[in-house]
Amino acid sequence: YLRRCRFGQSTQDVAIGLVPTMGALHIGHLSLIERARQENNFVIVSIFVNPLQFGPNEDFQQYPRQLDRDRQLCQQAGVDAIFAPAAEEAIPDLGNASSGSSMSRDAPSTAVVPPESMTSVLCGRFRPGHFQGVATIVTKLLNLVQPNRAYFGQKDAQQLAIIRRLVADLNLPVEIVGCPILREASGLAYSSRNQYLTPEQKSLAAVLSHSLLQAEKLFKAGERLSASLIAAVEAELATVPAIMPEYVELVHPNTLIPLENVEEVGLLAIAARLGATRLIDNVLLKNRK
Ligand code: AMP
Repeated sequence: YLRRCRFGQSTQDVAIGLVPTMGALHIGHLSLIERARQENNFVIVSIFVNPLQFGPNEDFQQYPRQLDRDRQLCQQAGVDAIFAPAAEEAIPDLGNASSGSSMSRDAPSTAVVPPESMTSVLCGRFRPGHFQGVATIVTKLLNLVQPNRAYFGQKDAQQLAIIRRLVADLNLPVEIVGCPILREASGLAYSSRNQYLTPEQKSLAAVLSHSLLQAEKLFKAGERLSASLIAAVEAELATVPAIMPEYVELVHPNTLIPLENVEEVGLLAIAARLGATRLIDNVLLKNRK
């Protein structure tokens, strides 16, 4: 439809870039949009707070919804179209979408189930059903929009790996583009959930990126043992008692299989709670040789 509308009959040179988001847009999202604009001549941002990816005790209700502001930001950023379906529209079987949902487990409709080896680690251990919810919605978005490329942040490294894998396994005709993490001056990765933090909590939260930086320094100095790199992160996190780590893990960035040693490349990832807010961050450790 878009291809015909905007470009008449000639669809040859049209490239559509999709940036899937849950809204409450920030600089991290804008960096994905900018990349999409560089590589495509039509950019679509989807805004959908996906009930399938929230557990029953998670923040589906509180999740910030700022469609008017998002619309302005998209306009300023040169986005061509926003796709913001209502929950009932996107997921007709949802029933009471506004209550958050245990749909991820009892979905009456077809679901996309990523490999267990990729969902039993990192955030998957603490958010059962989350990545099934993500995979199902992303598959629907890709089928609805049919972009040439879709843009995802390395901030959600497990999500990116799972989506790359699902696109390969299901032969979806789309290129997945991973984009680097955008950070505040303090090192804190931009996140819609940072809105939950008080100014004091925000400065404490910077310890996540600092701890990863410590480990990266050790890695650059030659440390290859996962246990040592993880211990360095844990030691740094422990300097801020308000931070409650959920996990610190070192896995292969594509397979998400835990690594004992980082030979070529490793994904060092953290999730931690600060008050009621759950924060994640990660760094890719790459052997330069
Ligand atoms: P979300 O709205 O949180 O679902 O994020 C939408 C997309 O933006 C995902 O692909 C995220 O990985 C990406 N993203 C979120 N925060 C950042 C960030 N600080 N830097 C880069 N990408 C990000």
